[in-house]
Amino acid sequence: MDRRLLEKLKTGEVGFHKIDKKPDTDAAIELRRAAVSELTETEFSHIKNYSFDIEKVTDRNIENMIGAVQVPLGVAGPLRINGDYANGEFYIPLATTEGALVASAHRGCSVISSCGGANARIFDDKMTRAPVFMTKDVIGAKRLVEWVKENFARLKEKAEATTRFGKLLSIYPFVAGRSVFLRFSYDTKDAMGMNMVTIATDAAVDLIISENDAELVALSGNMCTDKKPAAINAITGRGKTVSADVVLNREIIREKLKTTPEKMAEVNYRKNLVGSARAGSLGFNAHAANIAAAIFIACGQDAAHVVEASNAMTLMELTEDGLYCSVTLPSLAVGTVGGGTGIGAQHECLSMLGAAGAGDPPGANSKKLAEIVTAAVLAGEISLIGALAARHLAKAHAELGR
Ligand code: NAP
Repeated sequence: MDRRLLEKLKTGEVGFHKIDKKPDTDAAIELRRAAVSELTETEFSHIKNYSFDIEKVTDRNIENMIGAVQVPLGVAGPLRINGDYANGEFYIPLATTEGALVASAHRGCSVISSCGGANARIFDDKMTRAPVFMTKDVIGAKRLVEWVKENFARLKEKAEATTRFGKLLSIYPFVAGRSVFLRFSYDTKDAMGMNMVTIATDAAVDLIISENDAELVALSGNMCTDKKPAAINAITGRGKTVSADVVLNREIIREKLKTTPEKMAEVNYRKNLVGSARAGSLGFNAHAANIAAAIFIACGQDAAHVVEASNAMTLMELTEDGLYCSVTLPSLAVGTVGGGTGIGAQHECLSMLGAAGAGDPPGANSKKLAEIVTAAVLAGEISLIGALAARHLAKAHAELGR
């Protein structure tokens, strides 16, 4: 190891980012790790272990790399799904450190599969980016909004020239005084699409500012809304809007969940609906974020998008001899190409689901993944509501989670 360079890294004379690929990627990672180890007096015996392609990940996924964090991976299922894109039995990869989560999801999968599987359907599919502009006054704001409407075809052409796959679907304006937010929505096919739509919108913005008396303040004006809890995503959707449902019969509920449809409907009503409303929550669910986070981490999704995924609504309604259960995720941002989806382990997890890489036709794989995530969230909801109805929750966590 180059001890002189290591000392320079430690004093800050050479920045961590300056040594990328010098002399090679491996050595740069080792040097940074050694510097941090000495600076923080921490012995690293775990983070140095990884098997993915460091050239690929340092090119597109990570800067200042010093190693990798391993997250345990469990499997739940098989989960039978009757979707438009996901059809059959699926083994769900869940990367988590929360004891009892995989066991709970596994139980939910078993309940759903015993009752014929979860139906899953996609109702909307659009990734958004919303730049904010400033005009002179509201007269200018109105003029800009009208110009955008009249020139949609030209803006679409500009945006779509930056990508082989992205399609601009709409531009919806929101105004606050002389601030104008233009919410661009795109079909991004198999990509989650945030980079794609940011690049495409940037190109469209060039045309807007060249022909209008308006100043671009920021390419993202927070009405996108990316990675923040926001009613706009819960109401109008972002990424994929997906629902899944199943009718559970009384006998399966008794046998596998040790409770009744009536008790589960009551828990769902008072907890997920009344409790969430009273709390002012955007999510009307028990733990959609838990399942989404575990699949996102396993499958190389952008983990920060769990914020949007948590905008889920869970409904449980009594039927003649059972319980109708559904979940709706209005803003599920997932992709099967780009981002972290190509990294070794993450790619293997997507392969388990038959959803790795580009779909045929384009978009089919990301839609398949969205249906699978939503059906798995349904499994998680059924299991947790069942546990609460049977008063098994604390016991399960005591046994499995500590
Ligand atoms: P990306 O890795 O930047 O790009 C994926 C690219 O794959 C597409 O742009 C497309 O290239 C290509 N592609 C090949 N086959 C495709 C298919 N079947 N369907 C769609 N595209 C296909 O990924 P991204 O999904 O656009 O962005 C995800 C990344 O953005 C994540 O790493 C995330 O963390 C990050 N992110 C960025 C921002 C931001 O503001 N920039 C915000 C949040 C997250 P062409 O477009 O050239 O055709």
